[in-house]
Amino acid sequence: MKIVKRYSVMFGKKRENECLLKPYILYRTGISMSDAAQIIKKNIFTDDQRRTVEEIVRCGEDFVECYRKWLSFRNFEDCLNELAIKESRKNWNYRGFCEVCETESQFLVDYEYADYRDGIGTVPNWRERLVCPSCWCNNRMRFLIGKVKREFRTGMKVCLYESDTPVYVRLKEWLPDIRVIGNSEANDENVDLLISNDLLGKSIDYRGAFKDANRRLNKSGKLIFYVPFNANSQKTIEGENCVYGWDLLQTLKECGFSDAYGVAYFGINEGYLGYLQLYFEAIK
Ligand SMILES: [Zn+2]
Repeated sequence: MKIVKRYSVMFGKKRENECLLKPYILYRTGISMSDAAQIIKKNIFTDDQRRTVEEIVRCGEDFVECYRKWLSFRNFEDCLNELAIKESRKNWNYRGFCEVCETESQFLVDYEYADYRDGIGTVPNWRERLVCPSCWCNNRMRFLIGKVKREFRTGMKVCLYESDTPVYVRLKEWLPDIRVIGNSEANDENVDLLISNDLLGKSIDYRGAFKDANRRLNKSGKLIFYVPFNANSQKTIEGENCVYGWDLLQTLKECGFSDAYGVAYFGINEGYLGYLQLYFEAIK
């Protein structure tokens, strides 16, 4: 998919008409990185395209199809990064809607936990940054909290595997009845929505952990989770730092879930960057 609109970004100094992502973007003088990002996103994407997209993926081929279909998002990220490199910016702000604070925010982008990509250079760790300065949640945390808010229906019992992260703190503010698995005071069975933020899958006995998660859910309950995942790999690399492959979905079924799938997502408006992220859902 190509970026088809030609437009100018007023940005930087003495760099009149320098091309970015040739030949689509021209690079000019004068405005902040945050404003430049706004101009880019409003010129490349329509209102509809800026809304968060999610798509179920069940295998590597599904993922590749999704990856190709949404390539303009990847171009968008590269363009932002290219601007930041040209300006030698150590940090900058990305304007977006925070689903945790339920208001517009200025997410912090910097190079903590940065990645390196051949041909581009240092790339922000979009997944772990884009931190909201009001709730202190990063991209991944904001998405997960937003997901719970969208899934939640009155009367649902929601449980989390952790109590020492901003995800728990912010969800507890929004949903005081939320419970933590392993807390002896909590009745942590018959759960409607069970949430794990990178923790559950780190267990060495991850099959045991998935079976236990299944046992805690009620009849139509759902487990929503992140795990370290390699979308290019069919097979899970087991060990202390387990990295899952697509056989994860079959493993979940063997652990008692009736269905399990990955969900690829990206969101311009909410700052859910990091091409291309996946979370997982397993249905009892
Ligand atoms: Zn926030």
